[in-house]
Amino acid sequence: MTDRGTSTVSSPSIKEAAVAAFKAGLRGQLLRPGDDAYDGARKIWNGMFDRRPALIARCAGTADVISAVNFARDNGLQVAVRGGGHSFPGHSVCDGGLMIDLSRMRGIRVDPAARTAQAQPGAKWIEFDHETQAFGLATTGGTASDTGIAGLTLGGGLGWLSSKHGLTVDNLLSADVVTADGRFLTANAKENQDLFWGLRGGSGNFGVVTSFDYQLHAVGPTILGGMVVYPVAKAREVLRFYREFSKAAPDELTIYAGILDPPDSETVIALICCYCGPLDKGAAVVRPVKSFGSPLQDALGPIPYAAQQSLTDAGFPAGSYYYTKGGFLPDLTDEAIEVFEEYAATKPSPLSGVLVQTVCGAASRFDSKATAFPHRRFPYAPVIVSQWLDAADSDKNVAWARDFWRALEPFASGAYVNDLGRDDEDRIRIAYGANYERLAALKKKYDPDNFFRLNPNIKPA
Ligand SMILES: Cc1cc2nc3c(=O)[nH]c(=O)nc-3n(C[C@H](O)[C@H](O)[C@H](O)COP(=O)(O)OP(=O)(O)OC[C@H]3O[C@@H](n4cnc5c(N)ncnc54)[C@H](O)[C@@H]3O)c2cc1C
Repeated sequence: MTDRGTSTVSSPSIKEAAVAAFKAGLRGQLLRPGDDAYDGARKIWNGMFDRRPALIARCAGTADVISAVNFARDNGLQVAVRGGGHSFPGHSVCDGGLMIDLSRMRGIRVDPAARTAQAQPGAKWIEFDHETQAFGLATTGGTASDTGIAGLTLGGGLGWLSSKHGLTVDNLLSADVVTADGRFLTANAKENQDLFWGLRGGSGNFGVVTSFDYQLHAVGPTILGGMVVYPVAKAREVLRFYREFSKAAPDELTIYAGILDPPDSETVIALICCYCGPLDKGAAVVRPVKSFGSPLQDALGPIPYAAQQSLTDAGFPAGSYYYTKGGFLPDLTDEAIEVFEEYAATKPSPLSGVLVQTVCGAASRFDSKATAFPHRRFPYAPVIVSQWLDAADSDKNVAWARDFWRALEPFASGAYVNDLGRDDEDRIRIAYGANYERLAALKKKYDPDNFFRLNPNIKPA
């Protein structure tokens, strides 16, 4: 069961002469079905999506993005905007229409003195960290190094540094945006402040971001990280310990719990830590984790920050079939923990699991209206990830994640816009929470015709 149609909009027959003129005006490539690079370019991380854009504009820079937006609008084409291609619900590829592919725009410039970085939207976290760590600097990024900076930033950005330095949006200083009418705008605290607010959590609804400026912080290069791993049969005890320990953790420590299947291993429950403060203080901070219970493995210690950033990569390879569900939990109650236990024991695919991320420390102290990301008071953010390899197994794997979430939902509040899955349309408003009306008014101002709608969509007010 792959998806070949939910995003289809009629692709009006585009005049060949118009396509030829568009192609001739690009510095990058224009790909069409049958071109050698076409099939590779339309693939995204989630193998569930086998969509075929009519055209793929592989942009080389902002000028190409402006041309692509104008071309799609003038020819009535649906657009899909691709950054890192990691969208769970496949928003970065369309059937018919024009895919604006930013994957070749990967430049990153670090200013070590100002502790800032400017990055293009096709960059992935592995590349961003590579450049910033050369100066012992970093900003909050995602847990999988292959994820794009663009989509992750625009939805919020939960990562290993968020308890100390806030979410990725809290570290965004400025962004350049091409809006639906083809204008190029800079949004920051001084210019287009309303747009800047909306970009920080509004998920690509307002235009194509062609450049991001981030605040950086001194991090590593060695931090205290890694995981302590227990048998999944101990899930109840481990999650109860996690609940109490995470509540009291200092800002320097971000700690997640995960039910995972490491390569060559049975299902385990892991406590995954990133302590980004002084190493000599960190040992005492993580000691309770290291001395809790009888772990199968203790792999928590000094490691490069870059290694922490790719710790879980092997578990989420590109091309598998994925289906996800997630949201926020105000607490990890005993009843909610029982749900985790039950579904850890019944997953139909060994590759599936759940990762509990957090919005704690600095990330939780921002006002929930300061940016468009609203959920600052719900500390736990579980994302259930079903993963399987054979299309014939789709139904049971989708059902497992759905049922798991249905059982957890009574304990949940809110949803994380970047963790919404393919059938979460009815949860989009919940994800934008109390900021939805303001976002809808902004959408009306910057994209009144809802040109950018392959995203967790905000309808123009
Ligand atoms: C393995 C994995 C691990 C993850 N871990 C984390 C995590 O630790 N923390 C976290 O917060 N999230 C995490 N996520 C979720 C992730 O933040 C989202 O999937 C995010 O949307 C991916 O961004 P992308 O650029 O790679 O994806 P894409 O599929 O390219 O884009 C995602 C969305 O953003 C839009 N978009 C992309 N680029 C632009 C742009 N330049 N301008 C405007 N709109 C754009 C797209 O149109 C699409 O709607 C993870 C996802 C995966 C698959």
